[in-house]
Amino acid sequence: MTRSKRLTIYTALNSKALRIIDDWSKTDKVTLMGRLMIYEALTHWLWMVFVIFKMTSFDLFVDPYYLVVLLIGCTIFIFAIWVLNDQIPKIKPYKNRFIHHQMTMLVAYITYISGFILLIGQDSFVSGICILSVVVGLLLVDRQIIWRLFLVQCVITIALTLLPYWIGEFPSLRQTTFANNDVLEESRFFWRLSYLYLGLPKAMAIVFTVRKLLDGIQYRKQLIRYKAEYDELTKIRNRRGLFEITRRSLCLEVNRYDCSFILIDLDHFKQVNDVYGHLAGDKMLYQVAQLFKNILPDSAKIGRYGGEEFLAVLPNTSSEAALKIAHHLRTELACKPIDVDENNAIAMTSSFGVASLHIDCIDFIYKVHQRVLSQHQLQQQFNLEFIEMLKVVVDQADQALYDAKYQGRNRVMVSPVVYFDKLQHLGSFGSGVLIEPLDQEDAGLNVP
Ligand code: GH3
Ligand code: MG
Ligand code: MG
Repeated sequence: MTRSKRLTIYTALNSKALRIIDDWSKTDKVTLMGRLMIYEALTHWLWMVFVIFKMTSFDLFVDPYYLVVLLIGCTIFIFAIWVLNDQIPKIKPYKNRFIHHQMTMLVAYITYISGFILLIGQDSFVSGICILSVVVGLLLVDRQIIWRLFLVQCVITIALTLLPYWIGEFPSLRQTTFANNDVLEESRFFWRLSYLYLGLPKAMAIVFTVRKLLDGIQYRKQLIRYKAEYDELTKIRNRRGLFEITRRSLCLEVNRYDCSFILIDLDHFKQVNDVYGHLAGDKMLYQVAQLFKNILPDSAKIGRYGGEEFLAVLPNTSSEAALKIAHHLRTELACKPIDVDENNAIAMTSSFGVASLHIDCIDFIYKVHQRVLSQHQLQQQFNLEFIEMLKVVVDQADQALYDAKYQGRNRVMVSPVVYFDKLQHLGSFGSGVLIEPLDQEDAGLNVP
């Protein structure tokens, strides 16, 4: 089974654009950055050529002299980045030269873009967007370098904005100061259209990049969570994942009945390892886990509790109903031989211990959880005590399981329903911190 098939959760998120951000080599990322610089400068270049070509119509709005200067600068910049970009694959990443090369490209970019902002108007929509290019840079190049150069860019922008008050106006492409109102209006229209052309595609590219960046963070979060909460071998939840989902489901208001727990331990599994080897044992564990998972109702959750032990959690399930489900699991396993290898399959059996948590305790959990929701520290304590409480219930199931083993294996045993008396030693359920903010009468509880 391929990795992507196993982890369906990743597949949905693993789009091409994410792979650009996450999986590309340093060389590819810097080359992409160089190309983006060239594309951006090319859009400027095309605009300048168009304006020069139509100069007879635009000569009242645009200063032709500075336009030619900017066009020359833009052409030199495109050519320089082109040459620098071509050399990148020849330089080994992690070498100092690679860093210097990136720096050269970025300094060239800042120089060009500062000149561009100066001439196009530092108070324009385009100049604001130009500064935001740093977001794309952060994804592709060393973040430290980008941050420092961004600060330089900020200083340049402040200087371009404030210096004219002391040393007089800087040169500008815009010729908008005309006495004739008609010309002024046309000039405005021309510059607004130009700004849209020069700024909007870049703004869209930046927003798209940020979206992808956030998708990437989400993907990483899901990946880490999956690794922390799922068992690599059986592809079902591990103990931590199972406890976490149990906590989340018992803190919901929808619980109306007891929650039952079935602890399952495969019989004589050591012999399977001894006879067929650990690899075969591993494969069987996977198959058994999947078998149980498929039989259990949708509302139930199953996890690998330890070596060859599984724990099923069944919210809103009475002890009697859980007993029936456990019997069903037991008979299905016993009558469906599990593949050891391509040619052999063996019948396996398992012992089951059932325990249930009384609905009053679950109600109490819900109410305490509501109280601590907004208080981070109490919530931490609540989570810890919740785990301790689960351990008490699982311990009850373990005792029933022990009885099942003792009485000859391949059977189901049930322990009495867990009520507050079994949980008294826990702060939340006795007289500890968490109970204090909760009015017992309000909670409708009869805490012993
Ligand atoms: P019982 O009926 O008393 O439960 O007998 P048992 O042999 O199942 O119990 P025991 O606790 O003696 O042995 C458990 C075995 O499970 C021993 C260990 O090698 C095996 N086991 C635990 N985890 C894994 C695993 O991840 N892979 C494999 N192949 N075997 C495992
Ligand atoms: Mg065991
Ligand atoms: Mg066993």
